[in-house]
Parts: sequence; C-alpha cells; structure tokens
Amino acid sequence: MKPPKVRTRNGLWVAGVVVAAAIVQGVGAAGPAVAPQRVMTPPLPACTPNLTGTPSETEGPFYKPNAPERTSLLEPGMPGTRIIVTGYVSAIDCKPIPRAWLDFWQANDKGEYDNAGYRLRGHQFTDNTGIYYLETIVPGLYPGRTRHIHVKVRAPGGPILTTQLYFPREPRNQTDGIFNPNLVLAVQDAAGGKVATFNFLLAGR
Ligand code: FE
Repeated sequence: MKPPKVRTRNGLWVAGVVVAAAIVQGVGAAGPAVAPQRVMTPPLPACTPNLTGTPSETEGPFYKPNAPERTSLLEPGMPGTRIIVTGYVSAIDCKPIPRAWLDFWQANDKGEYDNAGYRLRGHQFTDNTGIYYLETIVPGLYPGRTRHIHVKVRAPGGPILTTQLYFPREPRNQTDGIFNPNLVLAVQDAAGGKVATFNFLLAGR
C-alpha cells in the first residue's frame, strides 16, 4: 500500500513516511525543534449542512494574556514527551482562515502551570492557508482534570473561541465532567514523540 500523502506547510505534498522521518529527527528530547515547514496537516474537514463549530469550554483559572508569539513552547531541558499539534482553522463554511489568532497554554510534565512567567504559553497566527502549528510537550495531569491543552482561537475581527483539546485513550476522560469527545486530538506515535491534528471550525464569524 502506498503511504498516504500529507501536505506540508509550504504547500508541497509528500509521502507520509517522509514527514514522519522529519518529525522523528526533530522531536528527540535533546534534538532541535522541528522546522515549521515540515508539518503534516489533516485533510480539510468535509463540509456538511449540519456542521457545527468547535465547542467552547471553560477558560479555567490559569489563562494569562500577552503570552509571547511563538510556534514552539519547547525550552532546552524541558522534560516531557514532545508533541506536534497542527491543523486548520476554518470558518463554518469550511473555508480556511489565514491569520487567525491562537493562544495556547498548558501544564508542564508535572501538571503545573507557570503562573509567574510564560513557560508553556504562546500565541501564533495561521499561515496564509489557514494552518497552525504547535510544538510542545504532552501536558501532565493535575487533580480533578483529564489531560488537556487550553486554547483561544479568533478569526480576524471575529469573536474569541475559548476551548480545550483532549487526548485519546485517557482513563480520566471518563470521569472529567468538562471533557468533550468532540475536542479529542487525533494523535499518532512517532519515534521520540507524538504528532497530533485538530481542525478548528469557527461558527461565530
Ligand atoms: Fe487546565
């Protein structure tokens, strides 16, 4: 069977195995950050008449405005499993949204937020094809919650969607009252880390 073709950030279509190899190279604990152009993205969401927007979720107590602009939240020596999260930000008509703002924040490997500084916090904008790209670590667990990454998303001039992204096959997904199965990342293992995709659909635009 031929490997599936995936789209890179610079618009090229390449075999999935090639991209996976690039990710493996970059995601190693001590290795350099993965080059942003080596990103795989999922197919655009199929547009149906009943499509609804990405659901919102509570902000929680740990959001801080003014996080730095960056696509990688990794820092030298930062413990944790590396993960790349990528996908499209689209309008409800499925048209990708260039220059959409995304602001991510999450706990560290031990389940702690940096409330004094901006570790594991950062904002970015989708590129001109509506793709975002995040390099980070898999967040740790903290009491009362399943594993999650917080995010705010906004199309230019639109309202802010505040939500959370979840991980598949997490035991606490069954007991966390905030968990929403429509917000689960599609996660794949890669040597040295994981790659994940999630497409945002902004209804309020
Ligand atoms: Fe949280």
